[in-house]
Amino acid sequence: MSAVKGKNTRIELAIRKTVHHEGFRYSLHNKSLPGKPDLALKKYGVAVFVNGCFWHGHSCRKGKRPTSNKNFWDVKLERNVKRDRDNTKQLKKLGWEVVTIWECEIEKGARKLVRKLNHKKKRLQELPKQDNHPKPEKLGS
Ligand SMILES: [Zn+2]
Repeated sequence: MSAVKGKNTRIELAIRKTVHHEGFRYSLHNKSLPGKPDLALKKYGVAVFVNGCFWHGHSCRKGKRPTSNKNFWDVKLERNVKRDRDNTKQLKKLGWEVVTIWECEIEKGARKLVRKLNHKKKRLQELPKQDNHPKPEKLGS
């Protein structure tokens, strides 16, 4: 599906840049994960797919199917949608949280993703702190 990937590259790069800029590290197209997520942030358990609206059947204007050769496109695109669904299901089973960012909502999607990651980061930072620093002895006891 190199044509599909090629279409996504520009969006994918924009997302990568934003996520990287915020200080998060990720692996790209991790082959050991279902669907080879575009970005996988192991530390946070978040897998990200950057989807082109047409190829992945988004319910927006760009995701509209062609009216000519209808059968051909229906079969082809439904296969993509089903594959996405299956990959999401498998990833969730493995404990990953799946984030899909659509081509038509890159900025909104990137913002949401960064907010989610920052939230998780904060929680991760808070947890070990409580364990590593025992409470001071109670005064007067
Ligand atoms: Zn869309």
